[in-house]
Amino acid sequence: MTITDPTTATDTPLDRARAALRRDLLADGVLIDLGSPGLYGRTGVFERVSSAVDTAGVRSMADLDTAVVRFPPVEPLAAFERTDYIASFPDLAASISGFTGDDRKHRELLAARERGERWEDFLDPADLMLTPAVCHPLYGLLTGTVPQQGRTFDIFGDSFRREPSLDPMRLQAFHMHEFVHVGTPASAQAHRDGRVPAIRDLLTSFGLEIDVVPANDPFFGRVGRMLARNQVEQALKFEFVTPVYGDAGDPTAIGSANLHEDHFGTSFDIRTEDGEVAHSACVAWGLERVTIALFAAHGTDPASWPADVRRALDL
Ligand code: ATP
Ligand code: ZN
Repeated sequence: MTITDPTTATDTPLDRARAALRRDLLADGVLIDLGSPGLYGRTGVFERVSSAVDTAGVRSMADLDTAVVRFPPVEPLAAFERTDYIASFPDLAASISGFTGDDRKHRELLAARERGERWEDFLDPADLMLTPAVCHPLYGLLTGTVPQQGRTFDIFGDSFRREPSLDPMRLQAFHMHEFVHVGTPASAQAHRDGRVPAIRDLLTSFGLEIDVVPANDPFFGRVGRMLARNQVEQALKFEFVTPVYGDAGDPTAIGSANLHEDHFGTSFDIRTEDGEVAHSACVAWGLERVTIALFAAHGTDPASWPADVRRALDL
């Protein structure tokens, strides 16, 4: 059987650069194609590098007094609802469905399946959403009062964003490590701004060319364009970008530093001891993006990487 490679149907230099990186990662056995854009299996070398990245990242945050929390890859609809994510990024959101029917409905499902029709319509929403940002499930736990000096959390986990793409830097399922602070307006801003040099130094020590630039998130629709402008004008979010595709396209964000102001504090009714609405901020890196940026910059064999890069990663 001949499988047509969809990545060869390209035209722009950026498309070609993305297709070439994807082809190399698959050919070198770093990623495994699961047959759906942006969904990959990962092999030993990938895991070794991404664990090294994460270990070095956590070390760079060691001076923070953090509480470690881990959440499942799905979150209750009620919590998702309060984040307001669906208002800003409906196209990236994804929900879980389950079968709740009886024998008759099951027979109908099987008959549709037999006819080669899609059968997912027979499933019902399960009040669960795939988590698009690993900090989401945290805020509901903080409803009430946080200490005046704030609290800082170390959260690692799975993220899902419905953005199918043949760009190996744009996955649907990926991992994010976030350091989240919830406190006063000043402590949240200090957290976001204070971590920027450490993350920049960390990524630079990996031999990556890093720029810190204002983020321009893909807020949805007409209202979204306003929100995006607001994000840039108020300098709420910065991204650590690296030119994975050289001159062929804009550099890609592999990390971010984001001030939410009172967004989550208001939605989840979190206050500081003085009774004011809490502010929050996140700094994060995407494990797959940093790892693939490393492969793009240095090749897929870590043994051949520059000595200082291997040292920074303890590889
Ligand atoms: P917020 O705090 O507003 O929820 P965030 O900081 O949690 O935002 P993002 O900045 O959107 O989340 O994402 C964090 C990191 O996750 C990015 O810097 C990037 O490395 C990674 N990432 C985001 N989207 C993708 C994707 N589609 N594929 C792979 N990695 C991604
Ligand atoms: Zn976050």
